[in-house]
Amino acid sequence: MADEKRDYYSVLGVDRDVNDDDLKKAYRKAAKKYHPDLHPGDKEAEKNFKEVNEAYEVLSNKEKRARYDQFGHAGVDPNFNPGGGGFGGGFGDFGDLGDIFGSIFGGGFGGGFGGRQQNPNAPRRGGDVSANVNLSFEEAAKGCKKTVKVPKIDTCDVCHGSGCEAGSTAKTCPVCHGSGRVTTVQRTPFGQMQTQTVCSNCHGSGRIIDKPCKKCAGKGRIRHTVEREINIPAGIDDGQVLNVRSGGDAGVNGGPSGDLHVSVNVRPHPIFERQGYDVYCDIPITFTQAALGDEITVPTLDGKVKFQIHEGTQPGDEFKLRGKGIQRLNYPGKGDQYVKITVEVPKDLSKEQKAKIKEFEALTGEKNYKKQKSFLDKLKQFFTE
Ligand SMILES: [Zn+2]
Ligand SMILES: [Zn+2]
Repeated sequence: MADEKRDYYSVLGVDRDVNDDDLKKAYRKAAKKYHPDLHPGDKEAEKNFKEVNEAYEVLSNKEKRARYDQFGHAGVDPNFNPGGGGFGGGFGDFGDLGDIFGSIFGGGFGGGFGGRQQNPNAPRRGGDVSANVNLSFEEAAKGCKKTVKVPKIDTCDVCHGSGCEAGSTAKTCPVCHGSGRVTTVQRTPFGQMQTQTVCSNCHGSGRIIDKPCKKCAGKGRIRHTVEREINIPAGIDDGQVLNVRSGGDAGVNGGPSGDLHVSVNVRPHPIFERQGYDVYCDIPITFTQAALGDEITVPTLDGKVKFQIHEGTQPGDEFKLRGKGIQRLNYPGKGDQYVKITVEVPKDLSKEQKAKIKEFEALTGEKNYKKQKSFLDKLKQFFTE
């Protein structure tokens, strides 16, 4: 059957724009027509039946259908084909087709297809888990190591996953002989039906534990909270999530562990504000400093730096300290720091101070206040027009 694949729509005899209902109807009709139990020993019917199931498996799934429409057979996973292990083994892969068979065959299949579960002894990936970490502004900017509490499921450290008390072992389930499944043969109006169900004696594990491990109650796994040290990369920002591969729940039956997602919260800084990788801060200077210029001290993430304020600096003037920003996340280079000047007007002046300022004011003129002059000129023009 691996020679050449037929178009899935033609297999089911439907148009490419078929809706879900009609697709289901077409599938029922075709599945009933080719069902192997109605054609015992007929290889051709079996092949057609598999083809029909394969087509429906893809077309009934929105995502797979879209991929198939776009890329054809190459677009859908070639490994999903349930035909692989002969008929019985394939049942588990049929997913929600159970209800369809149930209604076609008057429930004869019911139990057999109830098995949405995969083989209980197959390796399964552990679940993903999440944790939070709180960082200061500097920790996020420069990176650090932090210990976080991670609630997760791990293999039991007492029984190492066997679920058995020390010195005892599990025995093979006498009902299913370790397979975790039982096969029953039923008579139906269409002939004999083979159905597979999960073994109720061992719940599909294939093993019976007489003396369960006390710590995990025979489950072989425990839910607990562990502390884990996380490397926080420099440049991480508030609201980002770090993915720690394999930091999640332990896998089952030798499957890989899930991942740990660490959500990052960054506390605001009293002086600095962050935008991307740039740092912003406001620095208040006196109006004398602004008028005469001065050397001021500017805080940066790398410590204090001296900066020369030039004569006549205005409120709102901004200067840039190149490379004094935040380390780029996973890239070389840093952002910049922008310093905005605010000029503080003195308050609570004494009589003497006021007198001096008035004296000073008397000595100033248009030359010293160009902005005001230009504004007044515009104003004059405005009123004479
Ligand atoms: Zn245990
Ligand atoms: Zn069993």
